[in-house]
Amino acid sequence: MRIGILAVQGAFEEHQSVLQSLGAETILLRQKSDIKDLDGLVLPGGESTVQGKLLQDLDMLKPLKDLINNGIPVLATCAGLILLAEKISNDDNTWFGTLPVLVKRNAYGRQLGSFYHKGDVGNISDFNMTFIRAPYIVSASDNTRVLATVNNHIVGVQYKNQIGLAFHPELEKDKRIHRYFLSTIK
Ligand code: GLN
Repeated sequence: MRIGILAVQGAFEEHQSVLQSLGAETILLRQKSDIKDLDGLVLPGGESTVQGKLLQDLDMLKPLKDLINNGIPVLATCAGLILLAEKISNDDNTWFGTLPVLVKRNAYGRQLGSFYHKGDVGNISDFNMTFIRAPYIVSASDNTRVLATVNNHIVGVQYKNQIGLAFHPELEKDKRIHRYFLSTIK
């Protein structure tokens, strides 16, 4: 199976090495012509505003949005979650807008720029979640499955083909989340 990893900015290499170690073929998506024959899509962390603007400039927003709406399995982390969100509470932009959640960017403020929390993510127990200038999900539509919460804030959801996480599973040795993602691909 061939997984496209958005590679216009941010932490795409980490996802690439995890997915390759699990036996998946990966392709870094740097331009529109890279978007072909994909079985899955990864949207990495980074700066959502920078990524979103580059996606617009490179004319990649629409073809990727079409793939997502057509049901391609998506794993989005941190800035990737912000790109998917239907609404951003503290930003006027929306990018793909395919995930029915309201997210807040940089939601933990300066003092809590980065932190860790061990907890359950869906059926995966005791996962070490690393948060880096992370968003959280303020609210999610009823048909969205909440996968993880930290201090009463939603930090992971699944909606149809889209998994959105506020933290960074690609930084862990623990590959269970990427393995789960690959298991959702036929
Ligand atoms: N703060 C970033 C944003 O708002 C997200 C941080 C990350 O991806 N680690 O886009």
